Amino acid sequence: LEPKEEYGSKALAQDVMRPRRSDPPLAVLTQEGMSVGEVEAMVADTDYSGFPVVVCQESQRLVGFILRRDLVISLGACNARQRQEGVVSASLVFFTDHVPAQPTSGPPAVKLRGILDLSPFTVTDHTPMEITVDIFRKLGLRQSLVTHNGRLLGIITKKDVLKHMAQMANRDPDSILFN
Ligand code: ADP
Repeated sequence: LEPKEEYGSKALAQDVMRPRRSDPPLAVLTQEGMSVGEVEAMVADTDYSGFPVVVCQESQRLVGFILRRDLVISLGACNARQRQEGVVSASLVFFTDHVPAQPTSGPPAVKLRGILDLSPFTVTDHTPMEITVDIFRKLGLRQSLVTHNGRLLGIITKKDVLKHMAQMANRDPDSILFN
């Protein structure tokens, strides 16, 4: 994201964010209610670098962002270390502050709040890409989440921004301002 060229596209964050209409929905984790097996399946079935964590599927309210890497390490540790403590595929994963008291029956819970980024960068869907690009450059972001009224809509990665800029440069030269 070299700041050599002025970026004057009229596009908004919602035009660049993923998923696109035709894409599968955003892969998110819920702050509670998912099992170790379900989280492992999401990690195995996708190759995204990270996953937003939301309060619940219905609300899509953002809780934080977790890097795939950290999730893999934690669940790996979970396999080795926590298996001794009885953690199994059916164990519930919690990203919440408080974990409900454990029922005496049933497998123990896995607490992963510690590896969650609780303040991931967000822009709203109507933020102009010109400003979004500037924020990516100045803060050195790898990704930003996109929200509307607090509801999570999508994600923009640095690569998405670069692809968008390349498209603008090729297809619509008039929309790029060269000073
Ligand atoms: P990069 O863009 O550097 O390849 P990723 O592998 O994380 O980074 O993302 C690949 C594509 O998938 C990007 O277009 C990104 O916007 C999108 N994406 C990233 N994370 C998710 C997610 N959790 N759910 C759906 N799409 C995602």
